[in-house]
Amino acid sequence: IPVDSFDLVIFGGTGDLARRKILPGLFRRFRSGQMPEDARIIGAARAEMDDEGYRQLIADAVEEFGGEEKADAEGLKQFLGRLHYVPIDAKGDGGWPELAALMRDGVIRAFYFSVGPSLFGDLAERLHTHSIADEQSRIVVEKPFGRDLASAQQLNADLAAHFGEHQIYRIDHYLGKETVQNLMAVRFGNVLFEPLWNSHYVDHIQITVAETVGVGGRGSYYDQSGAMRDMVQNHLMQLLCLIAMEPPAQYDADRVRDEKLKVIRALQPLQPHQVVRGQYDAAGGDPSYRDDVENPRSHTESFIALKTHIANWRWAGVPFYLRTGKRLKARTSEIAVVFKDLGHTIFEGDTARHRNILAIRLQPNEGMDLQVTIKEPGPGGMRLVDVPLDMTFADALGPDQEQVPDAYERLIMDVIRGNQTLFMRGDEVEAAWAWTDPIIAGWEARHDVPKTYDPDTQGPEDAMMLMHRDGRRWREIR
Ligand code: NAD
Repeated sequence: IPVDSFDLVIFGGTGDLARRKILPGLFRRFRSGQMPEDARIIGAARAEMDDEGYRQLIADAVEEFGGEEKADAEGLKQFLGRLHYVPIDAKGDGGWPELAALMRDGVIRAFYFSVGPSLFGDLAERLHTHSIADEQSRIVVEKPFGRDLASAQQLNADLAAHFGEHQIYRIDHYLGKETVQNLMAVRFGNVLFEPLWNSHYVDHIQITVAETVGVGGRGSYYDQSGAMRDMVQNHLMQLLCLIAMEPPAQYDADRVRDEKLKVIRALQPLQPHQVVRGQYDAAGGDPSYRDDVENPRSHTESFIALKTHIANWRWAGVPFYLRTGKRLKARTSEIAVVFKDLGHTIFEGDTARHRNILAIRLQPNEGMDLQVTIKEPGPGGMRLVDVPLDMTFADALGPDQEQVPDAYERLIMDVIRGNQTLFMRGDEVEAAWAWTDPIIAGWEARHDVPKTYDPDTQGPEDAMMLMHRDGRRWREIR
């Protein structure tokens, strides 16, 4: 279904994110027919170039980062015809009158801030003073949204000076993933799960986001940030909210976000013994974290595992274990809802230690599997075995799977449609920082040193112990 016509300005339109994700994604939406004929995309960045130069830059980006759509030369030519470019200085006045002159009336105006957060306030202000943004306009802002509560409050205030909350779309691309929305469909679209979704039946929940890559070229940024700020405060927190929130009265932006906010506010303060920080070591000629960030004394964590509780009626006593890290054994992200043991078994020789586990995979192979107990096939008597009921979306969707948009594509189309459900509200972001700030301040105050761990593993030994102490274990990263 095509969206209404738009002029989408991408500040930072020549940057890595724009070339890697945003423009290739928009090309896929263009090919699917979702972009109206006259919709336009306007790159705006510091580099001096004209429309033709920008089209070439994006053609190269599609070639480098695109999927099979790049074979569609005719489609690409038409898409490139929708692109324009304006050299602009976010901190000065250069380029703004030209941008103002280019914007059309009567279409949606959206502005993607694909630049560092230090420019958010400047961009918001200049969009206003040059009368480029109107009441219907939307702005999209990238992570990181601050580095602590105070800076997030300042960013919110800078944006709020010129835009209403209903106009601000804070991106967390995890929310754009197919599985994440499916999590809500599974919870609230089936009679099977919601009655069990509480402390009576759930033993614990674990959320893992594991990467195999190190910090790569982002070392100087990452070393100022670390896994808590870069991953937990935003992505893992958002997943935690969706898994734990109360059913919203309706699937609409503010009702969903109200419920997520209540989860964050109910999180118990983290205690130091509930958190394990790690840093990857050198191995097999590959550099260590400290080599990668060129800071031999860095105390920043590239891995974190933590245990937390949600202090409300539904989740009383149910631990939530979260972990994320770089240079781990495999690239995998999943949420696992681990149900309680059976309690009593009627089958002779059986231990009653059968567990249902609902695993929601974000990558690879987006999908879900539900571990159920069945009779072991064959003549061996009533012996029980745990097997997964697997639903990989790509299989379920069959040949239509190419139609499934990736996170960025979906979120940008939501911006044009004016749907904020999958975007973080200002108060959510602030509440998440309010939860992470004290623990980070504690590490900084006592110069807490992360444990080292070998690359290609499950992370530091202490992270295993965090669960073992409770008689539980992490699902293997593989
Ligand atoms: P980048 O350094 O590759 O690109 C920055 C862009 O901003 C360039 O187009 C540059 O011309 C423009 N720019 C810088 N200063 C400017 C100024 N004064 N006026 C006008 N334009 C200016 O950065 P990136 O990797 O594309 O990241 C952009 C934002 O997205 C950052 O906030 C980053 O944290 C965030 N982000 C990036 C990724 C990624 O994969 N690259 C992922 C998530 C979030």
